[in-house]
Amino acid sequence: MKSAQDIISQMSSPSDENRALINKAYEFAAEAHKNHKRYSGEPYLSHIAAVAFKLAEMGMGPRTVIAALLHDVIEDTEVTSEELGKEFGDEVLFLVEGVTKLSAVRYYGSDRHNESLRKLFVATSQDIRVLIIKLVDRLHNMQTLEHIPKEKQQRIARETLEIYVPIAHRLGMGRVRKELEDLAFPYVYEEHHKRVCELLEKRTGKSNEVLEKERKILQKRLADSNLIDFNTSYRVKGLYSLYQKLKRKEWDINSVYDLLAMRVVVATVEDCYRALGIVHELWRPLPSRVKDYIAFPKPNGYQSIHTTVTTTNGTILEIQIRTRKMHHEAEFGIASHITYKTPDVASTNGSSRFGNLVPTLFRPFSNRQVKHTKDLEDLREKAPKEKIPEWINQIGEMYTKDKTTGSEFMADMREDFFSYRIFVFTPHGDVVDLPVGATPIDFAYAIHSEIGDHMFGAKVNQKLVQLDTELKNGDIVEIETKKSSKPSPRWLEIVKTSLARRHIRSYLNDANGI
Ligand code: MN
Repeated sequence: MKSAQDIISQMSSPSDENRALINKAYEFAAEAHKNHKRYSGEPYLSHIAAVAFKLAEMGMGPRTVIAALLHDVIEDTEVTSEELGKEFGDEVLFLVEGVTKLSAVRYYGSDRHNESLRKLFVATSQDIRVLIIKLVDRLHNMQTLEHIPKEKQQRIARETLEIYVPIAHRLGMGRVRKELEDLAFPYVYEEHHKRVCELLEKRTGKSNEVLEKERKILQKRLADSNLIDFNTSYRVKGLYSLYQKLKRKEWDINSVYDLLAMRVVVATVEDCYRALGIVHELWRPLPSRVKDYIAFPKPNGYQSIHTTVTTTNGTILEIQIRTRKMHHEAEFGIASHITYKTPDVASTNGSSRFGNLVPTLFRPFSNRQVKHTKDLEDLREKAPKEKIPEWINQIGEMYTKDKTTGSEFMADMREDFFSYRIFVFTPHGDVVDLPVGATPIDFAYAIHSEIGDHMFGAKVNQKLVQLDTELKNGDIVEIETKKSSKPSPRWLEIVKTSLARRHIRSYLNDANGI
């Protein structure tokens, strides 16, 4: 199990204050979860620690790591929001509450609603860090899925593919996405998984040996061409992404050209084009397979040059060429914009398998005069909020694909989901979609007219509230009813939905004998 020290060691020079806070959060979580075990029999803390460790490794800031350590205490233990806020401050509380609310968003197995579920997820999270914690939380749950009761495995794995994977993709978090996909795949499509494994095995055989041989040849040629400061690596295509492609290609594995890929990571954009020239000189490119995603990035921001070649040994390889910055962004996506770390700048001519990226210090504000470390951290931690608009734009892209009215549609979606509508939950996790400004009364009538007509009180996030309280995205709303309670004329001035207004009028009219 990862210790607090292990987690801290992944962070880049955290202040003494933050070290102390991480130790404190770790102890706090250990105590709160002391009677909990995972299905695997391990202490629950092992899950908490793994999630926090991964986030620290990705380069997330201290508050995100602290929130990760505390992410299950509100939901699973006696600890209250008040207590958490008092001990760790409002920002950590906000993040933990965000993660807790997301747990209520569940996939119930109807594909029709996936799109709204994804939007809901995004709208509910409110802060990008909440979404990142939740993705890493799910990643660890998927890594330990084998221990979970069989009947739950299916639902969780399917939810992962339908909801979490598209979000990770939209956020450009390629590495998390690939891991989630390949973990979920055998549970959701057992037969197809088997078939893909067999096909891959038959087609590539000892692919790692082949790839290592080709990598050395390319490495030597690049070095001989006086390209300095580069790094080569390779990968075999992920099983789930191969499955997606095979479905489109009538299961003909020979028409999948990116089964084996070699990656060249260089220092500058200029070097990318130089490297492309060197590769084409060395190996024969396949016609019309060069894709310049540097000049034309993909909608989720992905940048790279892709080309497919046949090596002298007859291996068909996709070559991906990119700068270190692009590489880091392709692996960590949105998270890379708000992290402390970038890839290893020092290593030249080194080789690594994909996924062995060792991040080092990142100094995004180095040319600014920032005096105190604390200010620097604050700047970085605040960055995600500023990033959200851009990110929403990216989410929007997925809806514009088949639409002719691209930007107009996107503007609509933004307005619709972030200006006009809120999503709130019943205590059972059902989602109710209301206009901004809606009150518990609107909520009650949205559930059922009988509930509205006999509404007596309301709780929002387990606290009693006034009936004219404005509901917020992600609130959990509970309505108390009494047979003797009835609508008051004053309600007409409070409610925001015409549905509620209609029911209230009709009740009052009936009561007045009109
Ligand atoms: Mn968890």
